[in-house]
This record gives sequence, C-alpha cells and structure tokens, in this order.
Amino acid sequence: MIKLLLLALLGFVVYSFFSGLLLRSGKSRRPLNRTNQGETMVEDPQCGTYLPQSDAIKANFHGREYYFCSKECLKKFKDAQGH
Ligand SMILES: [Zn+2]
Repeated sequence: MIKLLLLALLGFVVYSFFSGLLLRSGKSRRPLNRTNQGETMVEDPQCGTYLPQSDAIKANFHGREYYFCSKECLKKFKDAQGH
C-alpha cells in the first residue's frame, strides 16, 4: 500500500516537473526584449508598442533618441512635445 502511494507521489512529481518544463519553454518562445534573431527591441513611447529596432522610425528630441512604430506616432509625439 505504501509502495503504491510512493509510486503515485513519484508520478505526480514527474508530471509536475514536465508540465513545468513545458510551461517555461512556452513562455521563453517569446522573450520580451529580443526577437528570434536576437535583435534589440525598442519601445514606441507614443503607443507603447515594442518593435525591432530596424523596423522603427528613429527621432531625436532634446538629445535623446526615440523609436516609433509609425510616422503617425512620431507626429503625435512631436506635437505633444510642442515642437
Ligand atoms: Zn506607435
């Protein structure tokens, strides 16, 4: 009877170990700051979208670099800056 209990426990441990692994690998498929190619992701300060740096529109305000997903966002941000 105790053997059966241990077996059930072992089965549970193995099951949670593998389901934990699956969960983790599922999450790591889409890392927050990197694309699959390892490219740097930048945040559009206007709409909060993350996009690859090479796809972003770069602009300078007050000596700082900003990246935008579209010209619309760049324009809106520019207007909000009062320039
Ligand atoms: Zn945007």
